Amino acid sequence: MFKLLKIDTHTKARLGRLTTAHGVVDTPVYMPVGTQASVKALDPRELREMGTQIILGNTYHLNIRPGLDILRAAGGLHQFMNWNLPILTDSGGFQVFSLAKIRKIKPHGVEFRSHLDGSPLFLGPKEAMEIQRTLGSDIAMVFDECPPHDAPAREQRLAVERTLRWARECRDLPRAHGQLVFGIVQGGSNAALREECAKSLVAMDFDGYAIGGVSVGEPEPEMLKAIELTAPFLPAHKARYAMGLGTPAQMMELIARGVDMFDCVLPTRVARNGTAYTRRGALGIKGGSYKADFRPIEEGCACFACKHFTRAYLRHLLNVNEILGLRMLSVHNTHLFLQLMADARTHLAAGTFADFYREFIAGYTPSRRILSARNAELER
Ligand SMILES: [Zn+2]
Repeated sequence: MFKLLKIDTHTKARLGRLTTAHGVVDTPVYMPVGTQASVKALDPRELREMGTQIILGNTYHLNIRPGLDILRAAGGLHQFMNWNLPILTDSGGFQVFSLAKIRKIKPHGVEFRSHLDGSPLFLGPKEAMEIQRTLGSDIAMVFDECPPHDAPAREQRLAVERTLRWARECRDLPRAHGQLVFGIVQGGSNAALREECAKSLVAMDFDGYAIGGVSVGEPEPEMLKAIELTAPFLPAHKARYAMGLGTPAQMMELIARGVDMFDCVLPTRVARNGTAYTRRGALGIKGGSYKADFRPIEEGCACFACKHFTRAYLRHLLNVNEILGLRMLSVHNTHLFLQLMADARTHLAAGTFADFYREFIAGYTPSRRILSARNAELER
């Protein structure tokens, strides 16, 4: 299913190919997030034209709305949203622990109240796998417990124990035809817990492995540490996915540490407050300095927005709340994230990744305001 094609000689970066029921995914890959069966503001044709290979859907949200009966009647998520390329679905574990009100952890899952109307719901390994089977995603995630980054050691340990027990249950439950199932490593920034969790999951022989418990509000050095504490214990011949990450610079740092797959809501979320990413950092397009700036968002960018519109025009659209403004920023940002992955793959194939990585990081100014994407709101 996953073919490791090449490992960079100077970093730990990997070039790979993941084969799923709806097609092949070249890695490293960025996966646009379609929480509610839609990548916000973008349609499937645009996504394909930008080079999207795989998108995300979400168990927790889609189970609440439109609900399983509708999704079953539609013939699954691919049919429902008219997307015929691969889909990965998150298990809902993250949302249950971050969004849901009044939850009670039970041996077989979590009792909670819907964030929407307070109605009582239950989600555990059995339910999460049944929903993902009905959605018919190409990659299903196990149901895990994702504690906050500052949870005490005892809570982190209990979360790892439950995550492992639930992972085994998920592995043994029925799947959709050709569906892959990935395990999720928890353990916070505790080295021993990360190692134990990773090794136990690897012994269960999943199709791939995610590093969870990152992008939960932790400072960036702690996030990088969690990845470094986990990656050495994951098998080379399986795909590795860092959940909910990151900015362009963070994704580059993680590729260099051996991560293959990323999902992040930043490109479409920051577009809604007028922020455009570039290869040198983020731009607040609403700023007065762009009032008469008739250059594209980023010189040399091949996206539809940069080919057709100026900063001055986009700034105007955003300031008068025209939908086109936020759509075009979403187009540019998503295109950039996808293009960075394509560039990384090209440099990996050519043996020049290390130079590309060093130059990228040196030229990029991080913006503190917009980190920790996975932690916020209702998007995932
Ligand atoms: Zn562009």
